[in-house]
Amino acid sequence: MDYRLVCTSCGEKYDRDSGRFRCSCGGILEVKYDYSTLRLPKRFREETPSHQKYLPLFPVKKLVSLGEGGSDLIKAKSIGWPLKNVDLFLKIETENPTRTFKDRGSSVEIAKAKELGFGHVCCASTGNMGLSLAAYAKRAGMECTVFISRSGNRKKIEKIRKAGAKLVLVNGDFNKCLSAAEQFARRRNVFVCGDYHYRKEGQKSVGFEIIDQLGRVPDYIFVQAGNATLLAAIFKALDEYKRIGFIKRLPRLVAVQSMQCDPLIRAFKKKREIKYVAPETEADAIAVGFPTFGFEGLNALRKTGGDAIAVHDRSILWTSQKLAKHMGIKSELGGAAGLAGFLEIYGDDMKRFDGKTVVAIITGNNED
Ligand SMILES: [Zn+2]
Repeated sequence: MDYRLVCTSCGEKYDRDSGRFRCSCGGILEVKYDYSTLRLPKRFREETPSHQKYLPLFPVKKLVSLGEGGSDLIKAKSIGWPLKNVDLFLKIETENPTRTFKDRGSSVEIAKAKELGFGHVCCASTGNMGLSLAAYAKRAGMECTVFISRSGNRKKIEKIRKAGAKLVLVNGDFNKCLSAAEQFARRRNVFVCGDYHYRKEGQKSVGFEIIDQLGRVPDYIFVQAGNATLLAAIFKALDEYKRIGFIKRLPRLVAVQSMQCDPLIRAFKKKREIKYVAPETEADAIAVGFPTFGFEGLNALRKTGGDAIAVHDRSILWTSQKLAKHMGIKSELGGAAGLAGFLEIYGDDMKRFDGKTVVAIITGNNED
């Protein structure tokens, strides 16, 4: 499909192969397609859901793949909570090659870096991003440098080192790592990866798969938010399926964050712009004080008549324990936050979900 890169802040347009990761104004870029140029295979709807299936809806010619996507969508019967009159489905993203949804984004980002002729990529990470990028860079024969907080998750840092990436330990939180990675990329000829427009495109396949696997539009999708890229990506995927005519309505999207780091939720509830919050959550995968895709995330909630909830770290921990005990699904804290958000709202107001179909995404499992 034809596309251009457009700044979401000032509207400046860039050539599709400019290799830019931000607008000159500092704004986030968006891949704007010309949907009249979309060509889907005749039997597209019948094809088994897989990340590869959605290639015509990505901004690359070919994916760099480690077998990502096509994760199970499982109906939850019991998670230590009586589920009455509601169909709850869990999208198990921990089945991906590096155990998180990040692999979908990495397959597109690394493919784009390769198309543009880069041999070195870098990213800022709280752990899972770095792990995924390191694996995909290795697959493509590229050098990979990961910027991570010195106080980050020790196990994840060790895994990234073992995956063959160069590590730069930063004194500060995720947003400090982000500035460091972007400066590094500007100084050298390095393609900066992470929560930018190409990754968001790759992560759309979570949204496409939910629709294709369910065979209908769910009423709610609960998504945990760190940088809110997955939330923005799912919204874009659903919007594209609606444009193409595959679905007629959008599900309500619900963002979930930890009470110990909830800049997006505060902005949504107070109807104001996003302000930085110092992350204090143990759920490191969503410990982001100022979400890169925060504005797009809020937009996704508003445009779908969605909602937002902050849950305590204790309730996220409880949820991940119940998930392991009752369904045999292992998840790290950040990975279970979306489900924790659903259980909290459901516990307060079961009637709201009477006869409804709800999807929660189990995003990652890299803390063991
Ligand atoms: Zn701009």
